[in-house]
Amino acid sequence: MTNKKEIIQNCNLCKTRIADKLNSHIIPKFMCKRLFEDANPRHSIQVSKDGIRTKLQDIPKENHIFCSWCEKRLEKLETYFSKVFTEVNSLQNARRKYKLENIQNQEILHCEEISPSLFYLFLYSLIWRCSISKDLLYDTFSIESHIEEEIRVFLNNNLQELHSDLLEHSKKIENVPNYYLCLIKPKYKTRGIFSAYNSGPNSYAIYTVDYALFFYTNEKDCPIAHKLFGNSMNETFKIVIGSDESWKKLNNLVVQNMLDYKKPLA
Ligand SMILES: [Zn+2]
Repeated sequence: MTNKKEIIQNCNLCKTRIADKLNSHIIPKFMCKRLFEDANPRHSIQVSKDGIRTKLQDIPKENHIFCSWCEKRLEKLETYFSKVFTEVNSLQNARRKYKLENIQNQEILHCEEISPSLFYLFLYSLIWRCSISKDLLYDTFSIESHIEEEIRVFLNNNLQELHSDLLEHSKKIENVPNYYLCLIKPKYKTRGIFSAYNSGPNSYAIYTVDYALFFYTNEKDCPIAHKLFGNSMNETFKIVIGSDESWKKLNNLVVQNMLDYKKPLA
């Protein structure tokens, strides 16, 4: 009897259904698309924590980590955000309202018509998936297990199967895990690297061509700028628009941080 339990793996998200889904993405496809544009032959650069650059042909997919139901719930959230991110890339055609503000020479985009809890759901889903992934690409990204579990419960309790339910429910979400998130987007088109790694104690980064996401589980480890430009509960969600110069700096910093930071042995 115990043998059977070991063979059939349950979904990582709901923990109750069989993980029957194949080809699950850790980072949604729409966020990775541009990684492989304009390159001939098609590839992107992945930077490991030792600063080793390798060619990345495609974003890896994983089998048997989710059940079909959870995959569907994640998909609904991703579809919503693929539209939001398209708008953020080209505000002229946006259907929702955004406000651009300048704070200390830094452009900040306020996503006024999007429930902040939807952003938390989406960004936490990225962070959580990177952390639970068994793929080598996310080997250097792992959050503490009690926080991983806290985020899993948050996602599992609040993801919805239907788009309309998701929007409706998002207005009522309480108890969002209270950590520091800072989302940065370059102002102009860039060609970047892909990486997801622990960037320091209680500090995590996910880096794609279009976005850099920083996550801190302890206030003392969150840099002042990321606190200032980052997000706190119940406020309009903010996206930092990085100028070319600052994006380049960030790019270099990401690589440098990886070289400098050696993850302490658990
Ligand atoms: Zn599931």
